[in-house]
Amino acid sequence: MIKPNSNETKGGLSTLCSRCALLSKTCCRNSDIYLTTGDVRRIAGITSRKDFFEFRTPSDPVYTDQADDPVWFTSVFRTDGSRRVMKQDKTGNCVFLEGSGCRLTMRARPLVCRLHPHLYNSKQIYASISADCPLSLMESDERIENLIQGFDWKKARLWHEMLYKEINQETENHVDRSDV
Ligand code: SF4
Repeated sequence: MIKPNSNETKGGLSTLCSRCALLSKTCCRNSDIYLTTGDVRRIAGITSRKDFFEFRTPSDPVYTDQADDPVWFTSVFRTDGSRRVMKQDKTGNCVFLEGSGCRLTMRARPLVCRLHPHLYNSKQIYASISADCPLSLMESDERIENLIQGFDWKKARLWHEMLYKEINQETENHVDRSDV
């Protein structure tokens, strides 16, 4: 969930996340947020914490359905089927979610969170977005890029490049990657 900004638009609220939050929904709850070793270092550097991640097997089979992205499947998952993900509190909220949104600045936010809700694979990032995102909350003349706070295509391409560079480092450090 991205923190809403104060500029209101035709839709009443400026970001799709803020509109979604009005329906008590957030993609920061009950989602498996994969963290690269770079994510862990960036978050730990800013928060001075190291207790925010763990290795878990996917909570939903949809996370293992990566047919169009074999790099993801072979590099992110360990041989026991687990992967490094953000911890959740007892209600399923990400440990960095607070009332007004994500507590992390964009510089520290996990790369998968920065790219969400856009769809991507190792080769490219698409203009299309996750089916979970409620497009019904958009006005017909609005563009998704303008409704996600902090998103722009130039930055998104850099984040996408960073994400796969860091995923590929997982492969190189496969045997050591539980220790970041
Ligand atoms: S890190 Fe921030 S944006 Fe990502 S799931 Fe947690 S609260 Fe949401």
